[in-house]
Amino acid sequence: GLKHIQAIAPYVGGRPISEVAREYGLDEAKIVKLASNENPLGMPKSAQEAMLKAAGDLGRYPDSNGFELKKVLSERLGVPSGWVTLGNGSNDILELAARAVAQAGDEVIFSRHAFAVYPLATQAVGAKAIEVAPTASYGHDLPTMLSAIEASGDKAKLVFVANPNNPTGSYLSAQEIEAFLLAVPAHVVVVLDEAYNEYLPVEQRYDAIAWIKRFPNMILSRSFSKAYGLAGLRIGYGVAQPPLTDLLNRIRQPFNVNSLAQAAAIAAFQDVEFLQQGFELNRAGLAQLTEAFDALDLSYLPSAGNFVLVKVGDDDDAGNRMNLELLKRGIIVRPVGNYGLPQWLRISIGLQEENAAFIHALRDIVAQNK
Ligand code: PMP
Repeated sequence: GLKHIQAIAPYVGGRPISEVAREYGLDEAKIVKLASNENPLGMPKSAQEAMLKAAGDLGRYPDSNGFELKKVLSERLGVPSGWVTLGNGSNDILELAARAVAQAGDEVIFSRHAFAVYPLATQAVGAKAIEVAPTASYGHDLPTMLSAIEASGDKAKLVFVANPNNPTGSYLSAQEIEAFLLAVPAHVVVVLDEAYNEYLPVEQRYDAIAWIKRFPNMILSRSFSKAYGLAGLRIGYGVAQPPLTDLLNRIRQPFNVNSLAQAAAIAAFQDVEFLQQGFELNRAGLAQLTEAFDALDLSYLPSAGNFVLVKVGDDDDAGNRMNLELLKRGIIVRPVGNYGLPQWLRISIGLQEENAAFIHALRDIVAQNK
């Protein structure tokens, strides 16, 4: 194998329910999974129906250009459909961006504690990852990221910015992002990863499409896996001006988004009620979890996403230890040692009763450790 490929640390996802049930001898139905930032409401009914309809035609290839979905997306976003790229999950968009603009000898910039696919996509193309120190609250430090780009000179080709970021839940204001976009040199592509954008509280929302229209070096990346409840179908999209979109389009696999995913995404995108219901559930669940953390005197980071990071101890095995105790009790959450946060656990916000089951187990473990 190539050296730069061998150097890649594999992506570690949330453990599947069936695997945990087997390993710990538990009943699958009783396991609570709050580990992959999935939508606790599952897939919207509207999308399920659209998908079943499309299933009658699976002998044919999908629409390679995603005409119908791009039409619905672009009309709502207010851009021509030629500005939209569909991806096999938004991970696909992140990877396409790296493949389109970076290669060996180049540098790709992102924050420490940012999403795990940034280093993966960077290393896969043989480029060098430049990890920038975060703010005191573990968020992206955009001025420092800008300095890193400037220090990198011509080598910097791409910068990943997640808003909100996973796993920290940190949030950047429109002013901070705009100042950054204005200062980044034109030869550096900025990916603004908005996988969790739909969970932003109303007063924190902003118009990223206006930036896409102003900045030809920007790619906006969005997902159907979270707020739209389609994680298992693998679909996301990118928005960028035609020259960049054209590059992404050239290197993607011809049929990278399957027919079921396209049909389901059209329905889910138009299901305003589902989105609103999920949003409200998420706000209530976040309050439920943080109140419990407060009561247990555990620190947590303020989150703008559908998950929250909680500190479960002061030593570097604390996250793993607590994770193991939770697993024994049938609760799957996400240790984040691979994100450089070994004292923390990331909890995806679930249904009221799922959150309650987690809180119950957490209380039990904390009490036992006293
Ligand atoms: N960006 C961020 C910040 C994420 O957390 C995730 C999912 N973990 C993704 C992108 C990719 O999601 P998907 O490929 O399912 O759209």
